[in-house]
Amino acid sequence: MLTKEWQTEIHKCAKCGKCRSICPVFIETGKESMVARGRISLADALRNGEIFHTELLREYLLSCKKCLRCSHICPSGVDYDFIIQTMLDDLANNIGIWLIPRIVFSIFLTRRGIFNLLLKIASVFQRLVPLKRHGTMRHLPFMFMGGRWIPPLAKKPVLKKYRGMKTIKHPKMKVGFYVGCLINYVYTDIADAVIDVLNHFEIEVVVPQGQLCCGIPARSLGDVKTARRLAEVNVAVFEKAGVDFIINACATCGRTLKKDYPRILGEQCLKFSNKVYDITEFIEQYCNYTTKLQNTRVAYHDPCHLYWGQNISKPPRDILRRSAVFQEMENPERCCGGGGVFNLLHYDLSKKIGEYKATAIEKSGAEIVATGCPGCRLQIEDLLAARNSPVKCTHTIQVLRDAILPPP
Ligand code: SF4
Ligand code: SF4
Repeated sequence: MLTKEWQTEIHKCAKCGKCRSICPVFIETGKESMVARGRISLADALRNGEIFHTELLREYLLSCKKCLRCSHICPSGVDYDFIIQTMLDDLANNIGIWLIPRIVFSIFLTRRGIFNLLLKIASVFQRLVPLKRHGTMRHLPFMFMGGRWIPPLAKKPVLKKYRGMKTIKHPKMKVGFYVGCLINYVYTDIADAVIDVLNHFEIEVVVPQGQLCCGIPARSLGDVKTARRLAEVNVAVFEKAGVDFIINACATCGRTLKKDYPRILGEQCLKFSNKVYDITEFIEQYCNYTTKLQNTRVAYHDPCHLYWGQNISKPPRDILRRSAVFQEMENPERCCGGGGVFNLLHYDLSKKIGEYKATAIEKSGAEIVATGCPGCRLQIEDLLAARNSPVKCTHTIQVLRDAILPPP
């Protein structure tokens, strides 16, 4: 598992420390074990047999946000993501995966019906909790989520809502919508906007029913088996749908489908991955449109997995400039501190990282902050709610929808 390719990558690190200047976790903690250079030293020690597979090692690896910044600025071109992912896979292979995630991954992620039922029960309980600002709530009935401002679960997941979708007469093209878990179960308003906008452009959208989680939670903990199973199902489902393009509105899912799937499944899935587009990238490349400029001040937050992970920063800005009064915030590509596994394990640190972002949003004078990732939206809503800020967070596609299909 610790291949030659992996060892070569470790050797590339010149120990210059440039990654320290950009790593959001290192900036907050100042700990060498929590930055790319330090973790690469740990990889080297593991390779030499100086350290072993332990929970402490896993802790250091999981304190990485996987924001991909360090790989991009590294003067030696180290593929840090590959190094750390290989180590996580190797750790899982040697000392296993924690019991709770193992149960969740093996039972719920690959079986949509059971997952739906569990969330349905949770959504009934959440009705006992009053909604506060902009529709967020203080707690879900999960103890581990206590203290956060989080949105409620949707009454009907996207995959159920768009089960029997209407077809469009003489569509210009047919696209498949990869929904992703957060949009499916929580931010269904993003899916509504994606479908409204694409239908307005005379594009038929299908929402293939068999699609599953992209696999990133399992992959993050080194559960390669589950990640591979999920990838295989998703590729097969979209191949069967016979679509021209595969659209998504989640930066993390999009990066996983584009970049991780070929790594997990090999070159045979390049045909699938090459069809995958972020919704803003797709619109700017394939759609001609006019807008009715809205008088709302909008700022934009670059999700790490769009900006660094897919090199997408211009399309969302072009859309926002044509849709509303665009106001750039300070360092818009600075991390918001969100991120699935990291956020759950290091909530206090993630809030600390996000403080800069929340201040930049408020300083921009915007009424709305748009972004391209439901995970970032979750984090930003929590940060803004904790400050009682009046700024709302939304997805870029929703701002566009309001500019081309303004409410009556
Ligand atoms: S990972 Fe790259 S930036 Fe960081 S110390 Fe090594 S060579 Fe320098
Ligand atoms: S991926 Fe992000 S959090 Fe992880 S070491 Fe690199 S810069 Fe730091």
